[in-house]
Amino acid sequence: MNEIKVTLPDGSQRPLPAGSSIFDLAASIGAGLAKAAIAGKIDGNLVDLNTKLADGAKVEIITEKSPEALEIIRHSTSHLMAQAVKALFPQAKVTIGPAIETGFYYDFDVDHPFTPEDLEKIEAKMRELAKADLKIERSELSSAEAIELFKKMGEDYKVELIEDLGADHVSLYTQGDFADLCRGPHLPKTSYCKAFKLTSIAGAYWRGDEKRAMLQRVYGTAFADKKELDAYLERIEEAKKRDHRKLGKELDLFSFNDEVGAGLVIWHPKGAMLRTILEDFERKEHLKRGYDIVQGPQILKTELWQRSGHYENYRENMYFTTVDEQGYGVKPMNCLAHMMIYRSQLRSYRDLPLRYFELGTVHRHERAGVLHGLLRVRGFTQDDAHILCTPEQLDAEIKGVIQFVTEVMGIFGFEFEMELSTRPEKSIGSDDAWELATSALLNALKDSGRPYEINEGDGAFYGPKIDIKLRDALDRRWQCATIQCDFTLPERFDLTYVDADGEKKRPVMVHRVILGAIERFIGVLIEHFAGNFPTWLAPVQATVLTVTDNQIPYAQAAFDKLRAAGVRVQKDFRNEKLGFKIREAQLQKIPYMLVVGDKEVEGGLLAPRFRDGKNLEAMTPEQFIAFIENEVKTYK
Ligand SMILES: [Zn+2]
Ligand SMILES: [Zn+2]
Repeated sequence: MNEIKVTLPDGSQRPLPAGSSIFDLAASIGAGLAKAAIAGKIDGNLVDLNTKLADGAKVEIITEKSPEALEIIRHSTSHLMAQAVKALFPQAKVTIGPAIETGFYYDFDVDHPFTPEDLEKIEAKMRELAKADLKIERSELSSAEAIELFKKMGEDYKVELIEDLGADHVSLYTQGDFADLCRGPHLPKTSYCKAFKLTSIAGAYWRGDEKRAMLQRVYGTAFADKKELDAYLERIEEAKKRDHRKLGKELDLFSFNDEVGAGLVIWHPKGAMLRTILEDFERKEHLKRGYDIVQGPQILKTELWQRSGHYENYRENMYFTTVDEQGYGVKPMNCLAHMMIYRSQLRSYRDLPLRYFELGTVHRHERAGVLHGLLRVRGFTQDDAHILCTPEQLDAEIKGVIQFVTEVMGIFGFEFEMELSTRPEKSIGSDDAWELATSALLNALKDSGRPYEINEGDGAFYGPKIDIKLRDALDRRWQCATIQCDFTLPERFDLTYVDADGEKKRPVMVHRVILGAIERFIGVLIEHFAGNFPTWLAPVQATVLTVTDNQIPYAQAAFDKLRAAGVRVQKDFRNEKLGFKIREAQLQKIPYMLVVGDKEVEGGLLAPRFRDGKNLEAMTPEQFIAFIENEVKTYK
């Protein structure tokens, strides 16, 4: 056959000379496409650009713009890095180098840890190899041959990988004098790696096993072009500036202390104020929506945790104590006391739904390695609620929660995404119950009019759930709200209600949080706002600044008025230059500076200045109080 026919994604057919590759196909369509093409898909499988086409194949051309492109670019750049490392450090042994969400990494076994200078050298070598425009070629060989080959090269890790794979054949990718075991696909030439940067070095155990060798992991990132790379690097820089651990210290919000214990937050006055504002906000918002505020004890008898199943399934993460020979568990969640309240009376269908809300402080023993500022802690407070309702009410209740999340996230200015996790293979509860709960969650998602994803089989064994991930100012995702249906606890604690027909029935239980852990949410808020909290959230809303000592009596009276009216105000009457005081207040990111000079004293006024330097018209203390009250009321 001298000619083959292939089918393009739009269904059209295209004749090509026999032996043509995907690149040839792209070139036959246009020079621009040939230039942009980096790989292809044949019958839905990703393949290299130079893969030969068979007659009748369904072909798609992958360009730099395709969603699949980034992973191929990044994985190829990790090979380029391994080649550079081998060129500079021939004794280094290569292991694996996958693409990851932020770029790629490659793990090496080397004699000494890499230094930042090594990183620069490696990156320079990578540029040199990219410029050399080496062909990246795929070859297949038997596993026995591959083992032989890598043994000869002294690449023990590759030998282990091939042995573990247990396949007849494996594929190799070769560029210049460097060959790597890989499934592919890859870019056709090293010059296609155009925009990359090595970012950091870390230690990592071979296969994550502490008993195996400690390797050197080099992280990097890569994009299709320099512009995207630069934008990404800028975002990273900005994220570093906004790091809540750094800002938490600079703004004197909170601290951690080894003498107290890892993962346990100590809230300083301004941080505690921020928390209080959020907690007051939460109480108000919950009461508005028909929730009752409740409060359970911090420790509950061990027997109760046995009954709930926490003792069996969650014990390693809990703190226990024994007093007078009675064991107690410090609560890792708030559900149990809420169920005790439900059980304290006979419930009728007319009482439902019941919505119990608690700002519940819980303790969970997270591994030391995963603790991270406020984002991952061992003691935290959830805005936790449990809804107990009839099966018929579930639909409306879930919709109500999503509406709640939408309104609250709107106030903070967060966009969010939702994911539904459905029944896993191992689960408890009847088919009917799963069906009911899953369709209630799904209906609410559809009803919200927002995009959502479904993770089939990813739910907890005791019920389906919706996870809500908010997106911050730097376009990062944060898991906060969850809505979880639960079939176990009502069973285990024998919760019932008397239905209209006089029969005893099981209520449905929904666990839900809106902000999640207050600690974590504050960490996210700090980074989202870069510490520039809006007026309604700012722990200090205004500071009164004098120009000279002459204004102190008037300034003090104004300060007193503001504080009495509930404005969160501080003062700086020090004998310092005004410019110096303003700079300090700006560093503290206080929204309003109220300057008092002789003119203001004479006119009975304050001269407000916003933290970005913008001046507002002078106003009386009463006018300023009204102004702040309005900003708070409108969540400005
Ligand atoms: Zn590879
Ligand atoms: Zn719960």
